[in-house]
Amino acid sequence: MMAPKPKPKLAVWKFASCDGCQLSLLDCEDELLALAGEIDIANFPEASREVKPGPYDLSLVEGSITTPRDRDRVHEVRRQSKYLVSIGACATAGGIQSLRNFKDVKGFVDVVYAHPDYIETLATSTAISDHVKVDFELRGCPVDKSQLLEVIIAFLRDRRPNIPNYSVCVECKQRGTPCVIVVRGEPCLGPVTQAGCGAICPTYHRGCYGCFGPAETPNLASLSSWLKERGMARDDWTRLLRTYNANAPAFKSESSKCE
Ligand code: SF4
Ligand code: SF4
Repeated sequence: MMAPKPKPKLAVWKFASCDGCQLSLLDCEDELLALAGEIDIANFPEASREVKPGPYDLSLVEGSITTPRDRDRVHEVRRQSKYLVSIGACATAGGIQSLRNFKDVKGFVDVVYAHPDYIETLATSTAISDHVKVDFELRGCPVDKSQLLEVIIAFLRDRRPNIPNYSVCVECKQRGTPCVIVVRGEPCLGPVTQAGCGAICPTYHRGCYGCFGPAETPNLASLSSWLKERGMARDDWTRLLRTYNANAPAFKSESSKCE
């Protein structure tokens, strides 16, 4: 009798992050059991102490690169992975911790720590793709669990994931949510932010703050002048762009114009 075909091996890696994106995988609950039947969850310290050695068919990487050790470690992860997918705002754009990129990190370390000489940190927080080849970037803070399942299934079937790259505005229209800019006069990054969340914030009557990062070809100049004409202060526009995806190139370049 032929031996059964080994299941594809999945690994989940953590860098500088809050673990929220990994928890999205555990949050899959009903689907997780079906998934566990199809794949070997070989390395997922958040879920199990059992760690099987690589190579791995698919690595999901959460978190950004903020230390010299992690800058080296991510290359080892790449070497062990057939496919590497970065998940979440930290891994795809440096995360909220990339606010350090606009300031003097050494100054913070000197003020915060009694013994700054013990701290080994980089001056920047950067995306995984700034260091190694990434096969796909899944956005969000945290990622959407349906999109996460789609990405896992797609890579295990050797196909491209079906993830839209249009803006959050399209999702508002799809679910019939009134536009918060037009109806409530509130600032919203929906026109320049990638869809995927189902337009959660506008549905609860507040503006999008861009946690899924820039949409494809975002027209930031147009949104900026539109909001400023309606009274938005320059500093408020900068702050709106500098949240979870401050270091995403489109948001970074637009917010740097305001300085
Ligand atoms: S992207 Fe958001 S939810 Fe995911 S690890 Fe980073 S801070 Fe946490
Ligand atoms: S509406 Fe914007 S800020 Fe809110 S969850 Fe969606 S992408 Fe994130």
